[in-house]
Formats: sequence, structure tokens, C-alpha cells
Amino acid sequence: MSFAELGLSSKVLAAVEAAGYTNPTPIQAQAIPHVLQRRDVLGIAQTGTGKTAAFTLPMLTLLEKGRARARMPRTLILEPTRELAAQVQENFDRYGSKSGLSVALLIGGVSFGDQDAKITRGVDVLIATPGRLLDHVERGKLLLTGVELLVIDEADRMLDMGFIPDIERICKLVPFTRQTLFFTATMPAEIKRITDQFLHNPVQVEVSRPATAATTITQALVHTKSPPAEKRVTLRRLIRSAENLKNAIVFCNRKSEVAILHRSLVRHGFGAVALHGDMDQRARMAALESFRNGEMPILVASDVAARGLDIPDVSHVFNFDVPVHADDYVHRIGRTGRAGRSGWAFTLVSSADGKHVSAIETLTGNKIPFTGDPPPIEGDEEEEIHAKPRRGRRERGGKTEEPRQQGKGREARPSRERDEAPKAPRHEPQQAPEQRRPASSRPHRRDEDDGPVVIGMGDHVPSFLLTPIRRKSNG
Ligand code: AMP
Repeated sequence: MSFAELGLSSKVLAAVEAAGYTNPTPIQAQAIPHVLQRRDVLGIAQTGTGKTAAFTLPMLTLLEKGRARARMPRTLILEPTRELAAQVQENFDRYGSKSGLSVALLIGGVSFGDQDAKITRGVDVLIATPGRLLDHVERGKLLLTGVELLVIDEADRMLDMGFIPDIERICKLVPFTRQTLFFTATMPAEIKRITDQFLHNPVQVEVSRPATAATTITQALVHTKSPPAEKRVTLRRLIRSAENLKNAIVFCNRKSEVAILHRSLVRHGFGAVALHGDMDQRARMAALESFRNGEMPILVASDVAARGLDIPDVSHVFNFDVPVHADDYVHRIGRTGRAGRSGWAFTLVSSADGKHVSAIETLTGNKIPFTGDPPPIEGDEEEEIHAKPRRGRRERGGKTEEPRQQGKGREARPSRERDEAPKAPRHEPQQAPEQRRPASSRPHRRDEDDGPVVIGMGDHVPSFLLTPIRRKSNG
């Protein structure tokens, strides 16, 4: 099937051609004709299947007729995260550059003022995260009574994030007669309930998971001791010994662990950025961009933050923690081995993780082999255990500093020299301002391995380092 057979307008077909797409993906071929016929669609598909274009292309075609009215968006797209919302906007920019349509983004971390002004003028497409959208509605700046088409994307992720009550509220604020396009990767009972309630006689289209256990991905388990500091040692060895490593996503189960691991990797000389829910929008976008453009080869992320992001060509995935939900494992490793390329997925496993590993193996139907311990690197463990306070860190306290600029094209694997003979400026942790909290609220020192911020000397410093200070003050 070709794009020309789907019923898209000539303008949209020209944009598709300009994007270099020759054939529609299965979800596009199945969904687009129904969207154009104004049917409700229940799409069971995850990211990587081309589902974003499956709704943006027919929407652009439908929107060519009609005009936006002040404060009353014509279409509304709900996304679980800011990054996904921004990605959808990019899709509209890419395919709709000649359409003259007005697209607005309502996401946290962006000032109300700019968004208000745009909405007041009238928008054809409003892309929003549920919380921010409801904020605007409550402030009386936005009316949902003109919405002709509603898209609910990544619904199962919305469920995981606790957005379902917001979604239900929004569905009641838009006209009953609107068209609804609903996308989800899985159909748990709660999602089924929502689709039964809010979709009218939907066409169901389903495409198989991409890269479930694609043969292009080599998977392995790596044994590790369970304390986080030990896991960080194992991870560093793995990264340093990994073959064909170009870039990597390291997944953690908790956002606090993302922040800690990120600081640790930076301190050890790796070019790493973090992506987690406590970062503000600007910092998230900057982190993502520096990973996408290759400036920073390692992205440390939580599942929620990384969900659905379009990051092409990742050579390695490292699961710092075994995911608690087996489904997340599939999503995580699906970040590599895309489009027939080779990919590697390593999962750190301690004795406490057996149950979760079994659940993953049951879901994927594959036994994942253990690989040998990564080779030790002299000096690495010692650095973990005898954390020395380094110049620059003590003074930093709660001061705010701008994130440091790093050169382009940093290596994924730092040289040993960089690890063993750190120079304070280069090893300053790279943090966006919002990641810095007052010293008192920072995680406990022992969890941050080799010495993040030392507040006063006290218990944190090995006694042999304190000795000269005492002598001086006594003398
Ligand atoms: P998505 O599932 O929407 O996140 O899309 C995944 C990737 O597929 C994106 O990089 C799109 O640009 C790309 N893509 C979407 N549709 C097509 C198509 N018909 N042919 C080739 N690539 C596509």
C-alpha cells in the first residue's frame, strides 16, 4: 500500500514525500483511512511503530477545512510527558509546515503567558499534558467546547502516572460528538473501562510490538552485588569493556537513583546526561538534545521520562536496576537494535532480583543468559570506598552554578587517565540548576559513592585526612 491510497490531501502527501517516507507503516495504513472517515480509533501500538504520523497526517488533512476560533482549540492531543508532547509538535512542524495551521503546546515548565497569548488568538492543534491543560481550563483561559477531535496517546503510560482521573475529566469537558483517537501499547482492565466509556463504536487497529526480542538485540544478565555503590562499579566496568559502544541509555527504576548515578558517571569522566521527572522542561530538553546530537553519549533515565522518546540508533541499553514491571524491560531494550541495526542490552542482576528476572523471561519467552563478570579496573573500587573530598566540592554548598559547558563529541568511555588523575574542573558534576538542592536535602553521602558534596568534614572523611588539620590547630 502507498501513502497516495490512504486519502490524504495533496499538501500532506507532499510533506510525507519530503520527509522521505516511501510506504506507510502498518499502523498508518490501518488507521489513516478510518481517521479520515471520522471514525473513532483504538490503536494498540507502541512508540517506534509510526503511530504519531498515524494521527498527525490525517489530522492535518482534516484541518485544512475550517478555521480556529479564539480560546477554542479545534483539536486536542493529550500526551503523558512534556517530551512526548514536544515530539508531537515537531511532527506537526515537519508535516504541516505549509499548512498555515496554528499549533500550541501546553506543558509544564513553559510560562503561562506565551501559551495564553497563542490560545487567545485561536489554535488548530493544542498538544498538552493533562495537568497543565486542566490548569488552563480552571483559570478560564481555555474552552474545550470547540474540540472536534481528541487524541489520547500512550494511555497505558497515563495510567501508570496516575493521569486517568484527569483524562476522565477532560473527556467530559470536550463535546460528546467529537472524534476520539486512542493509542495504548497494552490493554489493562482500567484502560478497557475508559475506552468502553469514551470511544464510540471504535475501529480497533493493532500492530505487533517492535523489537520485542528482536534478533538484532544481544541480551545478557550481569551479576552484581546489590549495594548501589557496587552496582556503579559493575556498570562502569561494563561500559568500559563493552564492544561497539557508540552511545547508551542507562535505565534506573527511581528518579533519585538517576540523579545519583548521573553525578557518579560524570565524576568518573563519562559524558553523561540525566533525564528524570524532577528536572524542569528546559533542562530535560537540553539533556535530550545533547544526547541526540552525540555530544553526550550516555543518557541516564527513568522509565517514565524516557517513555516514547524518539531516539534513533542507540547501540547499548544498560539496566542499572532490573525493571519491576516486565513490560518496561521490553520498552527499555527496544531502544536499541532498531531498524535492523545491532544492539546490546545488559541488565545488572543481584541476588534480590530473581523474581523480576523470571517475570521478564516469562513475558519475552526467552531465557536471558548471564555473561561473565566485566573485567575489573585497577583503582576503581578503591575510589568508591575511600571517597576523598575533592577541591571545589566543599565550597559549592547550596550555591547555584550554571551547568558546565562540555566539548562536542565526548567519549562514552573515558580514558583511565581521566578516571585516575581527575582534575577538579573537568570532574565537576554536570548538573542543571534545578537538580541542585540545598546541601541538607541531598541524598546521603554513602549513596553517592565517591564523594559528591562534603558538608563539613566530620564522619565523611577518613580519619587519616583529618590528622594534619588537628595538629595544625593544636600547634
Ligand atoms: P513513532 O512510533 O511515531 O514514534 O515513530 C517512530 C519513527 O518512525 C519516527 O522517527 C518517525 O519519523 C518514523 N516514521 C514514521 N512513519 C514512517 C514511515 N512511513 N516510514 C519510515 N519512517 C517512519
